[in-house]
Amino acid sequence: MAYEENGALQSLLAARGVTRRDFLKWCGSTAALLGMAESFAPQIAAAVEGAVLQPQAPALWINGGACTGCTESMAQVDTPDVATIVLDLLSVNYFETIMMAQGEDAEAAKADLVAKGGYVCIYEGTVMTGFEGNALRVAGKPQVEELPEVFENAAAIVAVGSCAVDGGWVAANPNPAGGIGVLEFCKEHNIETPVVNLPTCPVNPEWVVAMVIDVLYLGALEDLSVLDLDEFNRPKGIFGQTIHDNCSRRGHFENGEFVTEFGSVEEAKGYCLYAVGCKGPQTFTNCPIVRWNGRASWCVESGAPCIGCGSANPLEAGGNWVDVNAPFLNRHRDIHVGDWVTQPTVVGAAVGAAAVAALAVHGVGMKAAGRMDGGAPYEEMKERDAKKGGGK
Ligand code: SF4
Ligand code: SF4
Repeated sequence: MAYEENGALQSLLAARGVTRRDFLKWCGSTAALLGMAESFAPQIAAAVEGAVLQPQAPALWINGGACTGCTESMAQVDTPDVATIVLDLLSVNYFETIMMAQGEDAEAAKADLVAKGGYVCIYEGTVMTGFEGNALRVAGKPQVEELPEVFENAAAIVAVGSCAVDGGWVAANPNPAGGIGVLEFCKEHNIETPVVNLPTCPVNPEWVVAMVIDVLYLGALEDLSVLDLDEFNRPKGIFGQTIHDNCSRRGHFENGEFVTEFGSVEEAKGYCLYAVGCKGPQTFTNCPIVRWNGRASWCVESGAPCIGCGSANPLEAGGNWVDVNAPFLNRHRDIHVGDWVTQPTVVGAAVGAAAVAALAVHGVGMKAAGRMDGGAPYEEMKERDAKKGGGK
């Protein structure tokens, strides 16, 4: 599909202060997010153009137990801005936190679309099964009563944010409200609608835009196998590498240069945050590349350790990112990647490299250079943590 400049799209972009050059650049980075070569940028551009010219695809944005942080995150997207996404790319027939319609009108619009089927369901928040479903009531009844039909009749479900993926913080231990993720709910109800999981707390709006384009306008809706999802139903193009792989502080990690206390000289020097709890080595997302808030910065760059909100464990109770990673600012003396557990002193040689052979050479080189024996005094830290009653 070739991209030819189109008047309607150009006016739309110009009205939002987006130049054609910026738009094509954005298409290139969206192609990368979708795991395509940047040369696919014209196809992305043509797809967005098609969205402007052709009848809009229906979508249903359903909120479960949530803080609406993912909605807020979407409101911060700037290219295209949220109005473009919501009003021009999608025909969102129901979006209870921002739609104008209320009460019976809103519920009637939702019921019509569900009866017709074939829409994309975007689900934000945790599915609340506790108290016989009364943990979350919508329009006078438990939400879980309507969800089987809503999910069953959808052409695809995009679970946005960690809460929708595996229950997130809402489902953290002891989880009295019985929070679970969308995939688990679908499995329990034998619903076979494809689910795309986009964790993090909140979701990164650029990933949602990329998925909307992929699912609705690049043909993935007809064949979702082209999305190339991992074992947790996350797109590999976004969740295929660790934070640590692309972190700008990685050099300090390998040199054994760590921040051990906030407010220290080491912090001012921008050293690695592993020793104050960074979960970057075991968290798979491209946050350092895509960044946040209009690509201004991201957690580690702004001085906060990654707390692992991109982890996902949709089908294992107690395995969500809060249960696995809290307390957040305590360091893990063991690094967990799936069933594999290793120690900080070897992780620089073992995590995040492209090939095992290359890693072995790298590890030997690090050892020979004396770097792997240096770094933070872990045993002293362990004693301090024990006194504070923390650490893992
Ligand atoms: S441990 Fe965290 S701060 Fe250190 S290099 Fe890895 S991702 Fe960056
Ligand atoms: S850097 Fe870590 S804590 Fe921050 S958004 Fe990404 S996965 Fe979540």
